[in-house]
Amino acid sequence: MSQNVENIKDHVELFHQPEYQELFDRKREAEGMPASEEVEKVAEWTKSWEYREKNFNRESLTINPAKACQPLGAILAAVGFEGTLPFVHGSQGCVAYFRTHFTRHFKEPFSAVSSSMTEDAAVFGGLKNMIDGLQNSYALYKPKMIAVCTTCMAEVIGDDLGSFIGNAKNDEVIPADLPVPFAHTPSFVGSHVTGYDNMLKSILSNLTEGKKAEKTNGKINIIPGFETYMGNLRELKHILKAMDIDATILADNELYLDSPNTGEFKMYQGGTTLEDGADSINAEHTFALQAYPTVQTRKMIEKKWKQGTTVARPWGVRGTDEFLMKLSEVTGKAIPEELEIERGRAVDAMTDTQAWVHGKRAAIYGDPDLVIGMLQFMLEMGIEPVHILVTNSNNKFEAEAKELLASSPHGQQATVWGGKDLWHLRSLLFTEPVDFFIGNSYGKYLWRDTKTPLVRIGYPIFDRHHLHRYSTIGYSGAINLLNWIVNTLFEELDRNTNTPSKTDISFDLVR
Ligand code: SF4
Repeated sequence: MSQNVENIKDHVELFHQPEYQELFDRKREAEGMPASEEVEKVAEWTKSWEYREKNFNRESLTINPAKACQPLGAILAAVGFEGTLPFVHGSQGCVAYFRTHFTRHFKEPFSAVSSSMTEDAAVFGGLKNMIDGLQNSYALYKPKMIAVCTTCMAEVIGDDLGSFIGNAKNDEVIPADLPVPFAHTPSFVGSHVTGYDNMLKSILSNLTEGKKAEKTNGKINIIPGFETYMGNLRELKHILKAMDIDATILADNELYLDSPNTGEFKMYQGGTTLEDGADSINAEHTFALQAYPTVQTRKMIEKKWKQGTTVARPWGVRGTDEFLMKLSEVTGKAIPEELEIERGRAVDAMTDTQAWVHGKRAAIYGDPDLVIGMLQFMLEMGIEPVHILVTNSNNKFEAEAKELLASSPHGQQATVWGGKDLWHLRSLLFTEPVDFFIGNSYGKYLWRDTKTPLVRIGYPIFDRHHLHRYSTIGYSGAINLLNWIVNTLFEELDRNTNTPSKTDISFDLVR
């Protein structure tokens, strides 16, 4: 029987078979697990205000932080450049985690190599690993640029990337003219957002060295930031095309992370050309669509390149209006009718839906820029944010979020919880419930425990397909956000009104 292919069970069913159920029972017994009544009693207690206070007093333990580590952000920046191989100096387990994380979210292969440091390198230093690694990577994968970052291990022992790469070039294991930008990305400080910034700054500083011209090239630069919605890069390009603006996107990882299936694997797909990257120093102006993954990069652009920078978050109607007007002001290009029509469509969609979302209480967690962008949109829709949780927060973000909330009558109920994790959010959702919450796939566990509807917006999203192909910015992004929010609420409403002759008086066909 067990050999029959017809009997192969999907894992959803498989573990409900009697042999597995017995095995689980025996395991519980062998491990001396408490009785299920006891487990339920404690689980119930974790929903209380008393537990919340204990939970918020915890200092030396983080449970499910809503952030990733620096090198993950660094390699996302690296693959936005043509022919670039991300090279992570440190332990290979870390790199396996980064690749898996991206592959699960984007459903695309993600190529990044590691210098695979082990115990001996931890004691004697990773120079040999780095030299061998650069030599092999260049010989095998023929990159146009190798972008090097580090894991915690290399940082703890204090490996000096600059001198290691210099040695590799002196030893002629890689060509002397191969661009090898590097960024130290210790993960015991900052997050993926900081890592993105460190790597982008390093790549731009490497490529633009000695490239400053007398005159500007008449273009603008746009930095999307730690962007995981490929639809956003397409939306950005659509806006630039509609306005006839010549721009360089730094760094453009759209094709790499959302590549067509042509039957042929290409290791390097699309990306900002190294020539455009080098010429970005001569642009008229740089726009950053996210503030927190571009802090150091913008500083460099302003101080060294002597170029003006603007942070603009085109989320919601007002955010997009402001971005377009600033683009128009800097480039002198008019906002075309095409974009006005798109704006009208977004306003129309918001008007159709507003009665269903106005006054709804919501929680949100995620990266600082995503949260600010979403808050802009939520306030615009009359949604009332209640719990705002950002693990990789800082004082600047908190001040910015509070100012935004204070500017709207719908922001008055909100508390900004900086540096907190998803176990804190669990307590918040139990003690001060909301109508829905917004976050990445890890919110699934909070949905299961608290039964609060989850709207999946953020990174990573592992358990739903294709969301990363949509936009969250621009007028079309506003419609997508609205769609995800209101239809989640409708699903919930249908679930709560589907008992015949009991709750189904509101089980309506038309919403
Ligand atoms: S936190 Fe450090 S050790 Fe952990 S995956 Fe990131 S780089 Fe590796």
